[in-house]
Amino acid sequence: MRHRELFAGRRVEVDSPQGRFTAGAALLWGRTLRDTEACGKHLLHHFDGDLTLHVHLGLYGRFSDGAVPVPEAVGQLRMRMVSARHWLELRGPTACEVLDPMLVAALRGRLGADPLRDDAEPAAAFARIAGSTKPIFALLLDQTVVAGCGLIYANEVLFRAGLDPTAPGRGIGRECWDQLWDDLRALMKEGVAKGRIDTVHTAHTPEAMQRAPRVDRHGGEVYVYRRPGQPCLVCGTAIARGPLAGRNLYWCPACQPAATAPAAPATPGARTRPGPAGSRTAPRSAAGRAGRPRRSS
Ligand SMILES: [Zn+2]
Repeated sequence: MRHRELFAGRRVEVDSPQGRFTAGAALLWGRTLRDTEACGKHLLHHFDGDLTLHVHLGLYGRFSDGAVPVPEAVGQLRMRMVSARHWLELRGPTACEVLDPMLVAALRGRLGADPLRDDAEPAAAFARIAGSTKPIFALLLDQTVVAGCGLIYANEVLFRAGLDPTAPGRGIGRECWDQLWDDLRALMKEGVAKGRIDTVHTAHTPEAMQRAPRVDRHGGEVYVYRRPGQPCLVCGTAIARGPLAGRNLYWCPACQPAATAPAAPATPGARTRPGPAGSRTAPRSAAGRAGRPRRSS
């Protein structure tokens, strides 16, 4: 990651022009940054002397960086880190604190499986999901279950899986979870690589469908996220929106039928399932995916 490229192996000076991180900054002043890592939305900067800077950006936090000289401190500047070559500024984070190894271990223990990490344990997340009556949508957004799955991905993977977002976690089978996890992992990795979030299959891109590209500062080409009332890209049904677990849920009532509705029967011998009842266009298999996760009901 960028902070590692800029600062790893370098001695840094840390301060808090705003004053809210003065004590923590003093602990880090003059130390060498050994390595950085991300756990979900938590960023860890490991320094020599077994001290770790923990940052969670939250909704309003942001980093900026550049080459020296260091610009004048302007506004609410929580933390500033400066090496001989580069500077880093942090504003508006939810968390900015120095942790010792015990507190780092405690933080890791609270975090769920992170799809972006190769050492993630999706089985642990499944154990939580399988034991819960909460909606799968809420569980995907619970940072102690899955770390780093934001609102866009939670909405989109459930659409791509054809899953009812209100289905209770305990109704999600292992096979279904494994496919959800793999899909989430692939989408999130692609998002990081491309710097934008696209979740539509090749068959549903603007080019393939000969439609205008989506214009939205929150993401690229998606199926349901922030598309209420617009036609589903797969079946044409109006995308629905509703609050769930205090977050904005978007779904296609036809492609993601309620858990109580009978599932469309699989065609014997077929590699893919037919589309949901009421589907007016090609089923999702047209998108080039072999089937989709099913509820274990
Ligand atoms: Zn649909």
